[in-house]
Amino acid sequence: MMAAIFHKRGGIENLKFEDVPTPQVGPRDALVKVRACGLNHLDIFTREGSHGVRAPLPHIGGLEPAGEIAELGAEVRGWRVGDRVLVGAATTCGECEYCTTGNDNICPYRKVVGVNIDGGFAEYICVPASILLPIPDALSFVEAAAAPSAFGTAWHMLVTRAAIKPGEWVLILAAGSSVGVAGIQVAKHFGCQVIATASTQAKLDKAKELGADYLVNYAERNFAHEVMRITANRGVDVVFEHVGTDTWEKSIASLRPTGRLVTCGGTTGRFGQTDIWSVFWKQISLLGSFAWTAKEFYPVWDLVGKQVFRPIIDRTFPLVETAAAQQYITDRKQFGKVVVVN
Ligand SMILES: [Zn+2]
Repeated sequence: MMAAIFHKRGGIENLKFEDVPTPQVGPRDALVKVRACGLNHLDIFTREGSHGVRAPLPHIGGLEPAGEIAELGAEVRGWRVGDRVLVGAATTCGECEYCTTGNDNICPYRKVVGVNIDGGFAEYICVPASILLPIPDALSFVEAAAAPSAFGTAWHMLVTRAAIKPGEWVLILAAGSSVGVAGIQVAKHFGCQVIATASTQAKLDKAKELGADYLVNYAERNFAHEVMRITANRGVDVVFEHVGTDTWEKSIASLRPTGRLVTCGGTTGRFGQTDIWSVFWKQISLLGSFAWTAKEFYPVWDLVGKQVFRPIIDRTFPLVETAAAQQYITDRKQFGKVVVVN
């Protein structure tokens, strides 16, 4: 099969498009003919070996494959060759204290598809059949591949960790990112009032279309000051953080007393100044959020299937141009999701 593969970590020149052996199907595995695979910044970090990511070598990236079952292991039940499937985010041990308490997203033995095991930038992927999910008829392969990480992440942040309630004010940072696009939709689905930030008018217009109630151009204005103006000096109940160093102080300053800051990442850096005094006198909660659990993905996938949650597709690239697709997201040219198709 053909695959976008790297034999050593580093720059984009290490990503080759090569003929490699098609994986062998074990008794509990499914071989999936990949039709679409969503791109993520984690694909870049995996190829570079940056941000502490160490994939085995040689390696095929791609976290979000969707396709059709091509072959099944002898012990697999409940699936047929030809079924349209989404490949779940990771395999987990199912036995540790996190797995057995519904926190499989932090299983220490978790193997992320496209990071710890080969992913979807290939004609085929072989995974345990237990991590497959059916793709609803209403969704194309591209839509299916564009949804999981954005909506799974946003749901775990807002619903599970921050426990948003109707009427609350939620500040969504960097609304042009895939997770920002999903964050707006999840917050609006739960009846929150959303303030969205972005750096261009075009991105703000799209955030408005997705349901954001108030818009702030953070390149032109201090977003914490704008939050206080919009909320009549009250502040927001929840800040949806994934930017990191560049926004951290202003994010904390945007919170009302008893507010919650929930973060799933730090794309601009891992360290930020925290005003400890404001944390205690405002009784602020700082909440970390990592990926999503198998259980909570069922309602997410149901809402994606019903097209209540709509992934925004920026553009697609053919599989042979996976390197160009990775460069495109490295250059941050997209609004929403970039997907490789085959
Ligand atoms: Zn486990």
